Amino acid sequence: MSEFAIDEMYASLGISREVYAFGKRAEEELKERFARIQETCEYNQLKVIRAMQECRVSAECFQSGTGYGYNDCGRDVLEEVYAHVFHTEAALVRAQITCGTHALAVALFGNLRPGDELLSISGKPYDTLEEVIGIRPSRGSLAEYGVTYRQVDLLEDGSFDFEKIRQAVTPATRMVEIQRSKGYQTRPTLSVDAIAKAIRFVKDIRPDILVLVDNCYGEFVECAEPSDFGADMTVGSLIKNPGGGLAPIGGYIAGTKECIENAACRLTTPGLGREVGASLGVNRSFFQGLFLAPSVVAGALKGAIFAANLFERLGFRVVPDGKEERHDIIQAVEFGTPEGLTAFCEGIQAAAPVDSYVRPEPWAMPGYDSDVIMAAGAFIQGSSIELSADGPLKPPYAAYFQGGLTWEHAKLGILKALQYLCGRGIVNREDL
Ligand SMILES: *Cc1c(COP(=O)(O)O)cnc(C)c1O
Repeated sequence: MSEFAIDEMYASLGISREVYAFGKRAEEELKERFARIQETCEYNQLKVIRAMQECRVSAECFQSGTGYGYNDCGRDVLEEVYAHVFHTEAALVRAQITCGTHALAVALFGNLRPGDELLSISGKPYDTLEEVIGIRPSRGSLAEYGVTYRQVDLLEDGSFDFEKIRQAVTPATRMVEIQRSKGYQTRPTLSVDAIAKAIRFVKDIRPDILVLVDNCYGEFVECAEPSDFGADMTVGSLIKNPGGGLAPIGGYIAGTKECIENAACRLTTPGLGREVGASLGVNRSFFQGLFLAPSVVAGALKGAIFAANLFERLGFRVVPDGKEERHDIIQAVEFGTPEGLTAFCEGIQAAAPVDSYVRPEPWAMPGYDSDVIMAAGAFIQGSSIELSADGPLKPPYAAYFQGGLTWEHAKLGILKALQYLCGRGIVNREDL
């Protein structure tokens, strides 16, 4: 046995030979799928490089404005690059957009007026949007400003309910919202193809209805984005996929010139719009993160598929299953017991480059009706493009996990999680 043998290295990180070998067998069967992920990655990498070349990104772009931020050239070129990548007229990409929820709120508030109705056609939106919209009463919601809300749930099989959508559109309908990723629901994630069909359907009813797509966790998973099929606004967080793990904050909105101007006038002020907002030193990490994003997303996808296959073999229910096509980077594994969920999260934490020595503990997180356990040893707080896992301590005791800036780290995290499950007697050696 060579001193540099990889199984020895895994052993030194606490992965037993049995667990390593089990993982290796699963990985070998995924060669073809991994090759297809690499093809998508290659396409998206070229797309990003081409956009950067077309927009003449230069070293000056990494300089940062201060104060008002007039003529912050790096910021303006970055927004142009995003518009090229998403094939839209314009984009708003700012450090002043504090997170994905904020980007969505800016897009909604900027483009809706009192008396307008917002219609979600992919069922209940992401938790944090409930207070933005006013589904749950809250200070300053769209509801307080006289914007009404309706929703059409997806059908049992996770597809759009076109009949109900047609019935729900009224003369007041100003905007339709579609959420690509399932978030923390059990429905399937929507493919870009399915979203494209829904956009066409809505525009056929009335072309002036705006379509907003919550693209969180979906960027670069496929070769196309919802913006390629007529979405007026495509919105996401920079501490997820498009930030490539390097963006320390931020969100983006890519869309029509009209919608982006409206959003900018909400983000800053009427009259000032996109002209102000100094980039404060983040330009290079935004550019470089976007450059890395296609391969970071590919690594995270491999991790999700690897985990699905590994835990499926051991008899756990996994969503999506080991064979399904992927449209986002989230993987759920149901453990059925609090001990299983806890062991999994502890394993993910123990494999992290940061805070590997702390043990995650379930806690009563605001807004949840049960304790939640979270594992994250991240360089950027709350970054879920980095390897992270969480889950509420209630049946079916599912861990939602995502990310991994590299496939190798995702793999270590998953093997470590399995090792913890073995150590606690939840998975038996004979099952491997
Ligand atoms: C993460 C997420 C959001 C909100 O993003 P934050 O950055 O956490 O505010 C919105 N929608 C979906 C589908 C998400 O996954």
